[in-house]
Amino acid sequence: MKILIVEDEVALAEALSEILKRNKYAVDAVHDGEDGLEYAMTGIYDCIILDIMLPKMNGIDVLRILRSKHISTPVLLLTAKSDIEDKINGLDSGADDFLTKPFVTGELLARVRALLRRKGEVVADQFTFGDIALNKSTFSLSRNGQFVKLSLKEYQIMEMMMANPRQLIPKERFIEKIWGYESDVEYNNVEVYISFLRKKLTVLESTVVIRTARGIGYFLEGGD
Ligand code: CA
Repeated sequence: MKILIVEDEVALAEALSEILKRNKYAVDAVHDGEDGLEYAMTGIYDCIILDIMLPKMNGIDVLRILRSKHISTPVLLLTAKSDIEDKINGLDSGADDFLTKPFVTGELLARVRALLRRKGEVVADQFTFGDIALNKSTFSLSRNGQFVKLSLKEYQIMEMMMANPRQLIPKERFIEKIWGYESDVEYNNVEVYISFLRKKLTVLESTVVIRTARGIGYFLEGGD
């Protein structure tokens, strides 16, 4: 799950990033409306946390343009005041939910989870495929009561494959989602983590395998 934060108060943006990362989300943060629009237009995010009062372009305008370009990513608007007019404008422009500053972490996380659920994506604590299960709270892969721990990157790669089993996922898609849209990570980074994951599947003696589509990407197969 990848989240974009558009918030010009850098300290707040960083605090939000930290909280979300600790909750296993991948996060990008930008600090003005123009950058926010550019990142959001890629369509790679599962949720956008968008401040209203922003330099260069305000959040409502960012949202209007996104919706006019048919980017339907769920948007949680942040508003500094509980101004009813902001809320009406925001809803008219296609916001999915609101949060008034200051807010408590628990509420933010609950709203984000609700938006991701509404998007129809799996936010369950566990993904299963074939004979293996991937657990979000323990960061582990298991089979028949046997567990192996995954690193953050291994977990994120496995999560993408298990959310879309048997579906070919291009290497660049992994890089965009996990390392970030403007990252200069090389494709062989993905290959390295895939090889770690294959070893872990072997350790578990799983029938699930990660197949390579040469030069393109990877997909999960087997287990039945
Ligand atoms: Ca602001």
